[in-house]
Amino acid sequence: MAADRDALLADVHAQAVRTLGGRPTREAVLAAVAACHAAAGTAIGARLAEAETLGERSACRAGCAFCCHQHIAATPAELLGIATEVATWPAERIEALRRRLEQDVPRIAALDHAGRQAARIACPMLDRKTGQCGAYAQRPVACRSHFSTLRTACERDFRTRGARRPNDKGVPTMESPKATAGAALVGLELALDELGLAVEPVELAVGLRLALDQPDVFDRWLAGENPFPPLPAPPNSARARLGRRYSDMLGDVRARLAPTRKTSDKSTN
Ligand code: SF4
Repeated sequence: MAADRDALLADVHAQAVRTLGGRPTREAVLAAVAACHAAAGTAIGARLAEAETLGERSACRAGCAFCCHQHIAATPAELLGIATEVATWPAERIEALRRRLEQDVPRIAALDHAGRQAARIACPMLDRKTGQCGAYAQRPVACRSHFSTLRTACERDFRTRGARRPNDKGVPTMESPKATAGAALVGLELALDELGLAVEPVELAVGLRLALDQPDVFDRWLAGENPFPPLPAPPNSARARLGRRYSDMLGDVRARLAPTRKTSDKSTN
């Protein structure tokens, strides 16, 4: 399975390198993000099908959004994809989003992961009436790859956040879709990092407000600036345990996969 993930990573990376070219445009970045998300989606579908043959099934359904009330990690490229989509919305819808961001972002920016979970502040993309994602086609890999196997556990977790739950086992989630989709994202971000573009994940609401307030943010990011405040890693993540930056970990991946990637790049020329 690790070999499959490395192959996916190498494929997404090779495709992103070709799509981005030496001086990427907005369109090229958005195309590379779309290709990464498509590859992640295909791989996630395969992992879900495999899990089902082993008796493990996702409990996630449209309209169920307990997991949309926490810090949401998006890489800058993914965030700019969402901001670009939002820019096509009707003016009144954008205005309603702006009002929501003005109200929520100061609170969100002041909270750590546990605090945001306890505060149960919804993602700004969530339609609170329908429970549907307002940026479904652009949602980041963090959302695409998150699958629970027990809806009642999600609801209990949501309703009791911030309370002490001595024997609670938490929400059971599926690991293989997350790991596989993560490999696809690393492939994309590796290509962006090699071009000197910022890759540290940003909190979706915080980044989106900045992108709406500062229309030149995409161009500044393309020029090598990092306009986004980085989102600290969740405390239970490998990145947090190691105390490292996402870009440093990409460097490790780059070194580990160097021979594989040379072969892969050659075969696609
Ligand atoms: S982007 Fe969509 S799926 Fe992800 S947290 Fe927000 S509303 Fe939920």
